[in-house]
Amino acid sequence: NKPLNIPRIHALPLQLANQIAAGEVIERPASVVKELVENSLDAGATQLNIRIEGSGSQLIHVRDNGAGIHPEDLPLALTRHATSKLSSSDQLSQIGSLGFRGEALPSISSVAKLTLISRQADSDCAWQLIPSENTLKPTAHPLGTTVEVRDLFFNLPARRRFLRSARTEQQHILTTLQRLALSRLDIALDCQLNGQQKMVLPAADSDSKQLQRLRKICGSRFVKDAFVIEQQRDLMQLNGWICPAIAHRAHNDIQYFFINGRVIRDRLISHAVRQAFAEQIPAGRHPAYVLYLTLPLDRVDVNVHPTKHEVRFREARLIHGLITSAIRDALRQTMPKSTSTTVP
Ligand code: ADP
Ligand code: MG
Repeated sequence: NKPLNIPRIHALPLQLANQIAAGEVIERPASVVKELVENSLDAGATQLNIRIEGSGSQLIHVRDNGAGIHPEDLPLALTRHATSKLSSSDQLSQIGSLGFRGEALPSISSVAKLTLISRQADSDCAWQLIPSENTLKPTAHPLGTTVEVRDLFFNLPARRRFLRSARTEQQHILTTLQRLALSRLDIALDCQLNGQQKMVLPAADSDSKQLQRLRKICGSRFVKDAFVIEQQRDLMQLNGWICPAIAHRAHNDIQYFFINGRVIRDRLISHAVRQAFAEQIPAGRHPAYVLYLTLPLDRVDVNVHPTKHEVRFREARLIHGLITSAIRDALRQTMPKSTSTTVP
């Protein structure tokens, strides 16, 4: 037998390692939007301006009024596993920020042309990092951060081929923004697509503005039919809006669930919600809901998947039961609709 000619082991070049990591986090333009907006929210921004060109592959531009990045840290922001959100392993069980892995910006900058501009409160000017030139230069910018991402997947033709039509990618971006806009009703957010205003959402700091945002995203039919849920169990709180009894066909894809401010798509959660609605909803129809679950941070592990959409619960069965019973109780009560909910 001829011996197999197996190469020796070598460490991957940084750029390649980043591109591989990018494969997990950045699937399409909408994933870039999600990561950038989450960073802005983590930075305490209250106002976000988003600009998209083409399918988003051409340009994704996110500007926020958050705390900004220290100029000396700008290169670190693009370094893998570098983060301001986590410093020791015991914090890993108490993650309150949306990000913590230090992977998004380095991933994006390995598969697109990224520029980063940021200004902190105590600085007279903003600083711009141009990674391709590895330079920092002073520039004008209000307090906060702008991340500009051009030519997504320019160096990964295989990925580019997987992208759908511009329309489809735009739709993914808008859906992503809607989810994020529901996750934080208190944040003002607007989005321009190819120079046209597509989304203008002022900060919803009152009951009527909350309902306005809900109407813009979920439609007026949902707002008309939905009623408020506000349930407290143990250390858990479930707030939001659910549609009672016979859900309208138009409601079918209104299913939003947020845990501690994070957009979650989790099987355990969907199952719990479906079970709660089971007796009420005719076959073939789906429950409609916008729900916010607040739990002590150490009861839920968000460090499960790079996109952080999935979670693991410390007491899965307990959480499942709590959600089901909270929704059932709320469905049983006939609460007045069109009042506000206290969204964390
Ligand atoms: P993570 O969010 O997991 O920390 P990222 O790669 O997304 O990792 O970002 C790296 C770091 O860059 C963050 O920890 C944060 O300190 C900083 N950063 C990124 N975006 C912003 C922003 N919009 N405002 C302020 N700081 C930011
Ligand atoms: Mg991040």
